[in-house]
Amino acid sequence: MNPDRLRLDAVLALLEQAGHPLPDRAAVTDDGFVQALLDGLCELSSKDPMTGLLNRRAFLWGLEQELDRVARGGEHALLLAVDIDHFKCVNDTYGHLAGDRVIRAVADALRGCVRPMDTVARIGGEEFCIACPSCSPSFAPVVAERVRAAVATRQIEIGAGLHLSVTVSCGGAFATPWIRGAVNDWLERADRQLYRAKREGRNCVRLEEVLSTDVSAEEKGMLLGLGEVESLMIENARMRDAQGLFR
Ligand code: GH3
Ligand code: MG
Ligand code: MG
Repeated sequence: MNPDRLRLDAVLALLEQAGHPLPDRAAVTDDGFVQALLDGLCELSSKDPMTGLLNRRAFLWGLEQELDRVARGGEHALLLAVDIDHFKCVNDTYGHLAGDRVIRAVADALRGCVRPMDTVARIGGEEFCIACPSCSPSFAPVVAERVRAAVATRQIEIGAGLHLSVTVSCGGAFATPWIRGAVNDWLERADRQLYRAKREGRNCVRLEEVLSTDVSAEEKGMLLGLGEVESLMIENARMRDAQGLFR
């Protein structure tokens, strides 16, 4: 590698402007320098600069991995689509900068009310998504309601001593165990529930009905490329675990 031929100035300027720690240019031939550049660029291309949440691109990539996991395992995953209610009024009444503050505060509220394994993203102007792995349909209403309440109860400081609160509507859809679904379909189903929540009054949560997943031990084995005996052993172990959980 000839460092003199690398066009580094634009990359370093971009990282500096984004407040990212700059690698030491004197160490340009080190692996560490290259790794620091890659880390910085990865961060810039996957984060939403306003909120620090994942951006749409990185989130969609994460959803692909999540659907792979769900197809291999026995647990549902929940996708929540979250949209601020009547947000245009906030901009119209208090101005765009106040609107930006509200978006950041909602992002904080969402980040603060989910498990470490969940992923929160800003996927559009005032639209967010949350992916919750290993989330059973019976537990999902609690999760979605916690998200709704975390926003509704927050007092948001918008400057000049003014505070306001906003609400969100949430729509939820599940990825079904043992089935490799498509990301677009998952997002569309969550969106459909979100629009139902909007239609039915806003500041509320709507979740889709869960599809039944009667996949036999043999079919699960075929999905995993296992023989009949191994599939039955897995099924038996799963039943023992379930009994243990509910004892
Ligand atoms: P609803 O309850 O149906 O969701 O109504 P709404 O007013 O929230 O929805 P609408 O889609 O009409 O308005 C969304 C507004 O969000 C319009 C747009 O100007 C504003 N917006 C989008 N991105 C940003 C941003 O980054 N900052 C600010 N301040 N406003 C934004
Ligand atoms: Mg809105
Ligand atoms: Mg919207």
